[in-house]
Amino acid sequence: MASMSLDLDDQWSYMKVHGDEGWENHPSYLDIVVPFVLDLLDELKIKITFFIVGQDAAIEKNQTVLRMIIERGHEIGNHSFHHESWLKTYSKEKIEEEIIRAEDAIFEATGIRTRCFRGPGFSWSNDLLEVLQKRNYAFDASILPTYISPLMRMYYFWNSRLSKEERESRKELFGSYKEGFYSLKPFNWRLNNEQTLLEIPVTTMPVFKIPFHLSYLLYISGYSMFLMKAYLNFSLFLCKLTKTSPSVLLHPLDLISGDKVPQLSFFPGMDIKTEKKSEVFKYVLSRIKKDFEVLPMLKFASGILNDSRILSEVKIKS
Ligand SMILES: [Zn+2]
Repeated sequence: MASMSLDLDDQWSYMKVHGDEGWENHPSYLDIVVPFVLDLLDELKIKITFFIVGQDAAIEKNQTVLRMIIERGHEIGNHSFHHESWLKTYSKEKIEEEIIRAEDAIFEATGIRTRCFRGPGFSWSNDLLEVLQKRNYAFDASILPTYISPLMRMYYFWNSRLSKEERESRKELFGSYKEGFYSLKPFNWRLNNEQTLLEIPVTTMPVFKIPFHLSYLLYISGYSMFLMKAYLNFSLFLCKLTKTSPSVLLHPLDLISGDKVPQLSFFPGMDIKTEKKSEVFKYVLSRIKKDFEVLPMLKFASGILNDSRILSEVKIKS
């Protein structure tokens, strides 16, 4: 099995990351992006999990498209309320408030009370895991096991126009190289209260622990389609060899470009045509489907939890 999800980061959250003015009014592209992505997924006959930002669900004009996600048979998850990648630095009370507020807004908008969570910018903490367990979440999916987090952060700062203070607040972004020591396979956290919580890490290339989600594949395809295919094939080969079920991550900007959302033309990869992005995605998906059954995350999680013998346990560090 493989699982697939899309973090539904909105236009304003990219502007906020980039340090652009006007993000506070929450300009949104969801009315363009969501129908486009839903059509693409229908064409490929797959169901996935959309992680929704609470702030978007709280805005009435977004609610019609958010409901479309459910109507078309996909799952939804909680991607925090404010989408602040320094969530891990919040107090436990603030984290809880953030989770509940997003959960409520998503419920109001879609009628679904979600029990799936992914932190913004792979941000997580022990307090977060405890809040999720207490609120009966089925799993957390916030870990990206890679040693190159500091490099990803450097690249991000280099591409933004953030002030010194903003950089300071984001200094924990993507975590440290230590994230690389976590397992690529789903595992159970053993929390301080002795309860457990399922963790489904975003899959990086087994052994080397370098990311191979769609943003990276697209980047490589800009140089050479051949190289991209080789990189993907090698990653999937290692997944099979190490018996790792890939958890594949998508972002809206992996699927649409500056031709559809000119406001975000500054973002890396936005000069690649939408058509080309669809072509890469279709290739990647058909390649994954050859070896794995692709499922949305909750369905995937219930499959694993039914056979919990396969799960290892990791005690949280105090
Ligand atoms: Zn996000």
